[in-house]
Amino acid sequence: MLRSEVGKATVNLNEVYATIQGEGLLLGKPALFIRVQGCNLRCPWCDQPSALPFEKRPVEREDLLQEVERQPHKHIVITGGEPFTEPALAQLVKELLARGKSVQIETNGTLWQEAMEEVASQVYITCSPKGVAGWQVHPRVRHYAREFKFVVDDSLTLQALLLFEDVLKKGYVVLQPESNKPKYLQKALDLQRELLALDYEVRVIPQVHKLLGLR
Ligand code: SF4
Repeated sequence: MLRSEVGKATVNLNEVYATIQGEGLLLGKPALFIRVQGCNLRCPWCDQPSALPFEKRPVEREDLLQEVERQPHKHIVITGGEPFTEPALAQLVKELLARGKSVQIETNGTLWQEAMEEVASQVYITCSPKGVAGWQVHPRVRHYAREFKFVVDDSLTLQALLLFEDVLKKGYVVLQPESNKPKYLQKALDLQRELLALDYEVRVIPQVHKLLGLR
């Protein structure tokens, strides 16, 4: 096998674990999380520091798929790190869809891969724009995303949210207080009220898996 083919048969993996989806509009679904290794951003409060460096942690995709098949879960969440830094992302998605799984990708929205065009409409993309990226979102992520989840921290402002008026109009925006801290919950409720006054309805949803003592 050629070296490039070997590369394509692997995924750079941080971990796989089963829990519930504790965030966003798919809250409560039993889910198997595939966490890829490596992120292009560095958010100050990131709760996955071990997944950030672009370390080589290749696993055979076939082995990963076998692990998925051993679990009863119908819903697979590809998270990170940043999933769009994984070269085999589209291939992995295709293989999961072929096994009858529903697939969700949690992304910071800054990156895109041409190969994803083929499958993106079959995937539930959760975009979480980040202040450290100046709230930039790739137009193709913006097009395909089915929800936008904003972590409410010191950097999130009403002005930043109003950069997403097209998204706010569609009504699939979630405000998530950073680490469930009371001051950010209050800020989320304040932002929700200010947006409602502008005729935009958004949801405030904490990290429920943490409230339940789950991963
Ligand atoms: S984009 Fe996500 S994984 Fe990357 S640093 Fe920010 S919170 Fe962490």
